[in-house]
Amino acid sequence: MSFDADDPTLYALLGDPVDHSLSPAIHNAAFQALGFRAVYVSVRIEEAGLLESVMRALAVPGGGGNVTTPHKGQAATVLNNPSAAVRATGACNLFWWDKGAGLCGDNTDIESFRIAAEHVVGSGLAGLKVLVLGAGGAARAVVYGCVRQATAGVDVLNRTPSRASDLLRQLGHPAGARALPGVGDLATEGYDLIVNATSLGLRESDPLPLQLGGMRAGAVLDLVYGPKGTRFVAAARDAGLKAEDGRRMLVEQAAAALEVWLGRPAPKEVMQGAVGLG
Ligand code: NAP
Repeated sequence: MSFDADDPTLYALLGDPVDHSLSPAIHNAAFQALGFRAVYVSVRIEEAGLLESVMRALAVPGGGGNVTTPHKGQAATVLNNPSAAVRATGACNLFWWDKGAGLCGDNTDIESFRIAAEHVVGSGLAGLKVLVLGAGGAARAVVYGCVRQATAGVDVLNRTPSRASDLLRQLGHPAGARALPGVGDLATEGYDLIVNATSLGLRESDPLPLQLGGMRAGAVLDLVYGPKGTRFVAAARDAGLKAEDGRRMLVEQAAAALEVWLGRPAPKEVMQGAVGLG
């Protein structure tokens, strides 16, 4: 088998699990709309030790890709040229090759979270009180994004409380952000926005990341997504809250990635249509 210049450029999502991902549908719809000969696939990477060689194998010939759970932290450590956002969060979700700079990476979760959060809340995030569930790579981007948007406070609640404290330490203990030791008396707190940045909801059998009954909250953004939303979003709407799943954030980060790879505007409406967003 041989390859030549007419072969499509290859892009991939690297993570574990990746079967549920809508990224291939979004990117392949965009490539087709732009008439660009490229293919986007998802590749399950079980061993973090394989990540760097797969990233280089994709990027060096002119392609690139995205990194998802649980490898965003590892991806940040193998870059030749991490962006300021990668350095601040220790997490990379986008990579490409630059002849001069080598393997480059960025964290587009921060800006795509802001856009999706503002959409569900219906306003800017400044002055809002936010509860973040989770302390992995996505939560780091969310907390960093909230602090940059001057939210009034960010509480971080994680199954493993020490990881919530680690997250805040890594971000330099930002003012107004605190790690909660447990659910405690969460019901007495009021939040303008609750963000699910845990991986709960990826599997049908998962419990909800939080029982919303009795909580005073304005809106819910679930970073987990499904073709028709998630059970957490359904529960939030049943409780009378505004709620959206992670598809808008996913499309926003995919559009940002496409613009980096191709150097031209992304067909955002086509990409939204590919995941059932109007
Ligand atoms: P990660 O680094 O692997 O972190 C996973 C988080 O989920 C950790 O806080 C972990 O808690 C928690 N968790 C896992 N299983 C749990 C359980 N059974 N009960 C309670 N908590 C549990 O993953 P990530 O990269 O941050 O991604 C998190 C989720 O966000 C994934 O579903 C990913 O698909 C989604 N995401 C979506 C977008 C989007 O564009 N929509 C972007 C980024 C991420 P421990 O620390 O205790 O293990």
